[in-house]
Amino acid sequence: MQLEAGTLQAAGSQAPSDDERDPALREVHVDVVVIGAGQNGLSVGYHLARKGVKFVILEAHERVGDIWRSRWDSLRLFTPARFDGLAGMPFPAARYSFPTKDDMADYLEDYAKKFSLPVRTGVKVDEVTRSGDRYIVTTGQTRYVAGHVVAAASSYQKPKIPDFAASLDPSIRQFHSGVYKNPGQLNPGSVLLVGASNSGAEIAMDLASTHQVWLAGRHPGHIPVAYNGYFAMRLVLPVVLRIVFHRLLTVDTPMGRKAKSQQLSHGLPLIRVKTQDLDAAGVRRVSRVVGARDGKPMLDDGRLLDVSNVIWCTGFRAGLDWIKLPIFDDTGRVKQYRGAVEGEPGLYVCGLHFQHSTSSTMIHGAARDAGYVADKIGERMRAAAG
Ligand SMILES: Cc1cc2nc3c(=O)[nH]c(=O)nc-3n(C[C@H](O)[C@H](O)[C@H](O)COP(=O)(O)OP(=O)(O)OC[C@H]3O[C@@H](n4cnc5c(N)ncnc54)[C@H](O)[C@@H]3O)c2cc1C
Repeated sequence: MQLEAGTLQAAGSQAPSDDERDPALREVHVDVVVIGAGQNGLSVGYHLARKGVKFVILEAHERVGDIWRSRWDSLRLFTPARFDGLAGMPFPAARYSFPTKDDMADYLEDYAKKFSLPVRTGVKVDEVTRSGDRYIVTTGQTRYVAGHVVAAASSYQKPKIPDFAASLDPSIRQFHSGVYKNPGQLNPGSVLLVGASNSGAEIAMDLASTHQVWLAGRHPGHIPVAYNGYFAMRLVLPVVLRIVFHRLLTVDTPMGRKAKSQQLSHGLPLIRVKTQDLDAAGVRRVSRVVGARDGKPMLDDGRLLDVSNVIWCTGFRAGLDWIKLPIFDDTGRVKQYRGAVEGEPGLYVCGLHFQHSTSSTMIHGAARDAGYVADKIGERMRAAAG
């Protein structure tokens, strides 16, 4: 794909003056800049390429898939391969097997190659601003000028850790699930996992044979069938993933809107691990951790836990604060409908928690959400062209 270099045609009052521009920055004009080459950014790219749109995908990591490679060593997808393919390329594994995180990383890299998607790796976006009707995407060495921007940087960028973590005794080893790799990182003794959603439950199972594990937090519910049985894999799971998570629980249904507020505050129901698996592995489940006293984590009934390690499985923020535009609501969430950002025609997001449905942050939801965003961009470009 050929990208044009040129001069910024600034229009409108937000245009930077010549003095404000960094003369060292190269300038590139393109129809669409997609930020992030995860499943969502690549899916947007797939759909844009089919429309013949000129675009570039900017990815901060050195290799496509690195976000998956960086996750913990034993991680396998909780969705079987049948649900892990993106548009145009099924996942190359037995339909009911669970790919490893590295299989997923390699799949994404192969996907980008197969469709010759124009991904620039090792390019971190520092800022998105607007100048008239053009968006300015600034990276270390280049300023991209585009009519459309898609922030596909996911809901999993900035770890959420409560402030009282700083009051824990320094002898307690503590870190976020985003940097957990394996049991060797922990002090000997017991570990408290704060947050009982999928990451907390999966890490609890990973640690149960080497540490005494406490799992704290409200139980988010689970899929009520043996997950890897024949019946569950072939009948229940397709219904849950393809119908319930993808079609019923959307922002367009009353049931979906109710599920949205629950899932945004408590996470998805447990998909692979069941409470009986946790019990069988000896994981002790306790209520919420609400603070710290005497350097120890404190539960909501006032009980203190004497542990050697704490892993914060407390989720992530989208971390889109490099978008310097008034697009966030009071809770810091992007105001959007199906990825189209309110008040910013031309700006889109993809992959946010419950952007459109429960499946929006899952692999099998990427194709539809990305297709919608690409269609809107296509419509807008056609309208502008007259
Ligand atoms: C531990 C874990 C396990 C999961 N397992 C499953 C599963 O089994 N099945 C399932 O369906 N879903 C699963 N998910 C949910 C979801 O599929 C993944 O989180 C997935 O990685 C999200 O894809 P994405 O494209 O939205 O974002 P990401 O994969 O996070 O990709 C976003 C990309 O944007 C890049 N980026 C961010 N900021 C910038 C910037 N400023 N400039 C340039 N690039 C930037 C990042 O480097 C990253 O590569 C899991 C999530 C987690 C956390």
